[in-house]
Formats: sequence, C-alpha cells, structure tokens
Amino acid sequence: MVNIADEKTLRIQLVEQYKHVEKIGLNELASGNLSVRFGENMLISPSGATSENITVDTLVEVSLDGEWEGDRKPSSEWRMHAAIYQQHEKAHAVVHTHSDYCVAMASHLKPLPGFHYLVGSFGGNDVPCVPYSTFGTQSLGDDAAEALTKRSACLLGKHGMIARGSNIKATADLAHRLEIMCRQYLLASQYGEPQLLTDEEWTEFFDRAQKVAYGKFI
Ligand code: 13P
Ligand code: ZN
Repeated sequence: MVNIADEKTLRIQLVEQYKHVEKIGLNELASGNLSVRFGENMLISPSGATSENITVDTLVEVSLDGEWEGDRKPSSEWRMHAAIYQQHEKAHAVVHTHSDYCVAMASHLKPLPGFHYLVGSFGGNDVPCVPYSTFGTQSLGDDAAEALTKRSACLLGKHGMIARGSNIKATADLAHRLEIMCRQYLLASQYGEPQLLTDEEWTEFFDRAQKVAYGKFI
C-alpha cells in the first residue's frame, strides 16, 4: 500500500518538475512527459499536458500494463515509461523530452560520444541512441528500456531523449545535463570531430568518481 501523504508529495513534485523542465526550455508545446513510480503503478503527466494546464489533479495513475481510470488520458508514451519501471527496479522517475540539442543529435541516429568526462555521468563512455519507432509504441518502449540497462539516459532516434533516476528532480537534472552535453558536442563539432577520452582516461574517471565525488551513476 502507498500512503496518501506520499501520493500528495509525489504529485506536487511531479508538477513542479514538469513546469521546471518547460521553464528551462527542454519541452515546449506539450512535447515530452514525466512520471514517477507509485507502488505497483505510476503517476504520469496527462497526454497534451503543458505548464499552463498541468495540476496535481490532472496526473494519471496508470498500472504498468496500461490500466487507468478517470477523464484524463495518460501520456501517449505510458508504454515507454512502464517498460522502464518494469525492467529497472531502481527507476523511480522517468523524464522524456524533445529538447533541441538532443533532437539534433538523435536525428543522426548516432550515440553521443565520450568527448567530455561528464558524458560518463550517464554511466558509460557514450550515451546510446535507439532506432526510430513511432511514438507511443511498445517497440519504442522496449528499445528505450533496454538502452537504459547500462545507462541512465538515451537518445531516441528522430525523436528526443529519455532518462531514468531515483527521484523526479534528479531525473529532470539528467535530462538537463544531457541537453548541455549534446549542445557542447555539437558546438565542438563545428571545428571537426572532437577528441574523445581514451580508455585509460575513462578508467581513471570512473575510478575517481566512485572514490571521490559521485559514487555509482546507475
Ligand atoms: P503526450 O502529450 O501524449 O505525453 O505526448 C508527447 C510526446 O512527447 C510523445 O512522444
Ligand atoms: Zn516524445
């Protein structure tokens, strides 16, 4: 059983982060969606949500196999969110955006390479890009959930990005971080292909990250 006080807090945090993600320009005009795990189910933004129309009462409780009640439809991407919660026990929040630089990278269907040590903060030496699938489909969900096995975020080919995390604020920050990294990579690419960290540099980075500051990334 999930207690009511938890539900209220989760709903407030989800709406706050939905608005924050839009305010910092990661989503515009109802693109993207956010959710949190809620017991056996999830709470997800309604389809067509914007900062102006989202409230704690418009969030939709959906079971991981897609059952929901009420007059608001859940996000069309509920399958992708559900697949991530099903496959990753540690995932307690999911953030999907169509942010500019992530879309720019994802339109090439290539991973974000390890040109900067902070690419490592997603759990490895690159951020993968899954193939294109129509929005809302199970194949998009399955591919994203699989890509998030070894990383906390991935690009969605010709679509955007998605991240999983331990809470909604940390997960929105991952979406923001990935947008920054894609922006910086695309800037750097204007002078030719950037130098990537070497295997040795990655080994030292993950070693130091674990000992000093960040702990485990995924
Ligand atoms: P929803 O408004 O249904 O959440 O869809 C937005 C989106 O990003 C679809 O991929
Ligand atoms: Zn989308």
